[in-house]
Amino acid sequence: MRFGLDIGGTKIELRAYDHNSEELIKQRVSTPSNYPDFVNAVVNLITQTETNLATTASIGIGLPGAICPKTQLIKNANCTFLNGHDLQRDLSNRLNRKVYIANDANCFTLSEAIDGAAAGKQVVFGVILGTGCGGGLVVNQQLLVGANAICGEWGHNPLPNYDHAKDGISQPCYCGRQNCIERFISGTGFEMQYSQRFSENKSAPEIIDSLQNGDHKAKLAYYQLVDHIARSFAYVVNIIDPDAIVIGGGMSNVASLYGDVEKQMKQYVFSLNSETPILQAKFGDSSGVRGAAWLPASNNH
Ligand SMILES: [Zn+2]
Repeated sequence: MRFGLDIGGTKIELRAYDHNSEELIKQRVSTPSNYPDFVNAVVNLITQTETNLATTASIGIGLPGAICPKTQLIKNANCTFLNGHDLQRDLSNRLNRKVYIANDANCFTLSEAIDGAAAGKQVVFGVILGTGCGGGLVVNQQLLVGANAICGEWGHNPLPNYDHAKDGISQPCYCGRQNCIERFISGTGFEMQYSQRFSENKSAPEIIDSLQNGDHKAKLAYYQLVDHIARSFAYVVNIIDPDAIVIGGGMSNVASLYGDVEKQMKQYVFSLNSETPILQAKFGDSSGVRGAAWLPASNNH
């Protein structure tokens, strides 16, 4: 039995999978606001579920942060009370087994590379286009974490070929840099681009609805988004040339994006004949927690 946990700002979710990767149960509890309560909540959630299912499970956890390779302490987590703690050691001690932890975008990519949209592909780059723009890289069904545990954090590279006249005003990012890719192609970035260009606030789904109704402003915003994603993906292709790029998160529901981005990328990738499939995540919102459940079997942390 495999348990995957997804740590969010408001909820901790656990899903249990059997040996056929069938989901057996889903449990949620609120995320506590301090570290000791958080550890207790995770331990209780796991032990209660194990009691209910009369089983012992392997444990993998995905969270929006990373484990510092030098200190083993959590860093970059948006649940800020986790930062600076050795969560892996503390949970492993309490649960009497090794607990595996990885960044949630990495878990998403692992899930899609193992038995999701990119099953059978050797090199898979995964991207979650939602509030932010997380990424992960899986090679031969193994996560690449990186020497600094920031592999896949391409959302904080600058938008390639940023041009003020073409791409609008300079965008400050919370990371302290300017014009990060995330500020343009995440759902939030897309909305901000629209709002600054047309002085009108619309949510990403509203803009896409307008696009489908033939709205001119929505069309301009959409084709600019396609171009921004194509430029950003082309840089990834020129460096690692993945067998597929998988998109998850809210923006992954825009069906036309896949073909349009594939077509637009051709002018930016070094080889004119390149073909990199851009795929929609198979498991949608549950891909992160599924990937977390895969962590122990894939021998990563
Ligand atoms: Zn940034």
